[in-house]
Amino acid sequence: MGGILDLVYRMLQKYTLCDYCLGRQFARLLSGVGNKARGEALKVALAMEANMRLLMDDKDAVNVLKVVAENGMNRHARKLAKSLNYQIDENKTCDICEGKLTEENFRRIADSIIGELGQYEFSNFLIGTSVPVHIKERDDQIKAEFALTFGEEIKSDITRELGKIIEGTTKKPVEFATPDITILLDIFSGTFTVKSNPVFVKGYYKKLQPSIPQTPWICRKCRGKGCEACGQSGREYPDSVSELIGEPALNLFEALDYRFHAAGREDVNVTVLGTGRPFVLELKSPRKRFIQPDKLQNAINEYAKDKVEVLDLSYTTKKDVRDMKAKSVVASKTYLALVEFDSNVDENKLREVCEKFRNVLVHQRTPSRILRRSDRVRKKYLYSIEAEKKGNRLVEFRIKAQGGLYIKEVINGDGGRTVPNIADVLGTAPINITLSVVEVER
Ligand SMILES: [Zn+2]
Ligand SMILES: [Zn+2]
Repeated sequence: MGGILDLVYRMLQKYTLCDYCLGRQFARLLSGVGNKARGEALKVALAMEANMRLLMDDKDAVNVLKVVAENGMNRHARKLAKSLNYQIDENKTCDICEGKLTEENFRRIADSIIGELGQYEFSNFLIGTSVPVHIKERDDQIKAEFALTFGEEIKSDITRELGKIIEGTTKKPVEFATPDITILLDIFSGTFTVKSNPVFVKGYYKKLQPSIPQTPWICRKCRGKGCEACGQSGREYPDSVSELIGEPALNLFEALDYRFHAAGREDVNVTVLGTGRPFVLELKSPRKRFIQPDKLQNAINEYAKDKVEVLDLSYTTKKDVRDMKAKSVVASKTYLALVEFDSNVDENKLREVCEKFRNVLVHQRTPSRILRRSDRVRKKYLYSIEAEKKGNRLVEFRIKAQGGLYIKEVINGDGGRTVPNIADVLGTAPINITLSVVEVER
């Protein structure tokens, strides 16, 4: 004997190995054969070798047959050994997997998983598995002892076997990069969890009314517990953009939770009109994921009627959240500001404003109204200002600026903390500013 059969014989002399655990050590030989079939083929070949030698009166071959029948747990070898009246110990279990890698075990856990998958919409899945350390160590130790270099990880064996069964039943493929469903299983304890990965929906929102913060604003007095000041609501404002968009989506997707990501944020009293502000809604653990964007759009716009409106919804990926946030720092925004001044506005000075504010770098210390954040100087570009007089003391400005520039402070100067500013050039102070975002660069 020599070569692979000799190696298998030496392995089985020392260790009891099931078909999976033996075959796995040769996983990279002859592709397209499952590890179970590999292991069984090696044992059958070894038993045939023994049978041949016995027929040629080689008495030593009895030992080979016994090893395959006992430590190899091979039913053909057992049958032959019994017919020749040899005593065979039939109570062995695999030294690596402790008898857990069997077709029946794979089938049983696959059936439970498929049952649970029934409550989710999905187009693909991925299986991950955990293997107890002592089992992994024994596998590694046997690999090292016999210098086996053609094998694979026990994890790969398990996930592939399960994957084949689940693919066959659900007709959905395994997907490695962005699976809809991730299944984590431990075949050794017979447990598993099914995780539905988030759905990401991209869109643009308009905020039609002031007094709606982008995210829920907790009452400053009671910090959300509910007090007299907030009418026991625990909130400064009853609504928020994220809830007006997220809640109807949560229901439609039968999700457990959601996260609202937006490209920057406007002040609570600033409306968003025109083409809207980009956002991505992340729906967590959704049961449904094949909702038509139009249907979602209608549901949100119905729920948020007269407050918030969404447009151009489409499905996207997690990567888009990062891209959108990175872009929002540099993306330009266009604002419409209706400003009432405390004295008449001079036409010439208004023209001066439009000329002066052309691609200027504005130095802005943290606005005094939000000074609880750290006081620092921001430098942001203001690209252009157009102005139209709407009355002696009333002017409508259209201001295009880099994201992150505080516009109210550009208008009123914030006591000299924002330079240059419109109030300085006009020589009159604004007493009322109504601001809307009309365009966020896409
Ligand atoms: Zn095994
Ligand atoms: Zn309160």
